[in-house]
Amino acid sequence: MKITCLNCGRPYPDQGTPYKCPKCGGLFDISPLEFDPTQVDKSQPGIWRYRHTFTGLPDTFPTVSLGEGSTPLLWSEAFGRQIAFKCEYLNPTGSFRHRGTSVITTFLQSRGVTFALEDSSGNAGASFAAYAARAGMKAGIYVPAAASGPKRQQIEFYGAELHPIEGTRSDVTVALERAIENPSPTGRGAGVRVAYASHAYLPVNIPGYATAAYEIFEQIGGAPGVVIVPAGQGGLLLGLYRGFDALKRAGLVKSIPHMVGVQARACSPLWVLSTAGMSAWGFVTEGQTLAEGVRVKSPLRAGALLQMVEAGHGEFIPVDETDILRGRDELAKRGLYVEPTSAIVWSALEQALGRLPDPVAVMLTGSGYKYSPH
Ligand SMILES: [Zn+2]
Repeated sequence: MKITCLNCGRPYPDQGTPYKCPKCGGLFDISPLEFDPTQVDKSQPGIWRYRHTFTGLPDTFPTVSLGEGSTPLLWSEAFGRQIAFKCEYLNPTGSFRHRGTSVITTFLQSRGVTFALEDSSGNAGASFAAYAARAGMKAGIYVPAAASGPKRQQIEFYGAELHPIEGTRSDVTVALERAIENPSPTGRGAGVRVAYASHAYLPVNIPGYATAAYEIFEQIGGAPGVVIVPAGQGGLLLGLYRGFDALKRAGLVKSIPHMVGVQARACSPLWVLSTAGMSAWGFVTEGQTLAEGVRVKSPLRAGALLQMVEAGHGEFIPVDETDILRGRDELAKRGLYVEPTSAIVWSALEQALGRLPDPVAVMLTGSGYKYSPH
């Protein structure tokens, strides 16, 4: 497993932490992933049992960990079927993000980073703020000014600098990239090289997300028939897909589950492009949605996700705004309290369950505590 640029094929440099290829500006990626059951280290907690799958980390470098992973898989009834709910919202700051953030922060620290910026709708920012605090690293987090209050408070309590940006989610990334490329000559962080701890760009994130596939495989005792996942950037979806692909190539499962990415219809580029083709790009909107965590107009790894659909391994399903809070309430009635972004999986179950094979695994990505109505 190597990290290479998808555009020019150059390997990731041995020093520094570039988020894009320094030669051509391309996106770095690690694929395929390799899983070796004999190398699973059962003495380690959570995701670190699968350290051998984390390309880019020095073998013995100490981990930056808050106890992420090993989340419960709870079976509950929905629409007359038993569904396996993977409770990712029980991770340390209340979201699935930690699977990637723990690997990213360990990677940054192994390369000498002391100050890093991250942009997020809120959950990835809260997650990185926590891990930066754990690592003794300075963090600056860029979020939409409209991000949920509890997420903004989390970020500030962890001691990170919060930068609320007016405008869309895309405007937040633009503001951060400007800060990375034109660091302030004075003020906080002056003279220190600032890294971009991007959950979307940094390729070491995806193998972290893939650990959820290894856990589901162990918890069910095989591969599920279907995995249903909220998808904005689609990183968790891609990580799960590649994780099951690694299990298949290791001879541990016969086939990869049908992967279902769920998007808010108001901002559903992956659904639009996978059903209507690339020529429909002009029809993609970045509308307001309660599912703020999946409001991503231009997913960076859309190419890999659309290839997954073309290869017959998955699909995207859009969810109407009016169905989101109803989904949250239905999940809460089963003891599963999630934020609106997570709750979109309920409508996807309702729309598609009739044609999906058992066992069905559903990712519950963020805690209900993350959300408060404005
Ligand atoms: Zn390149």
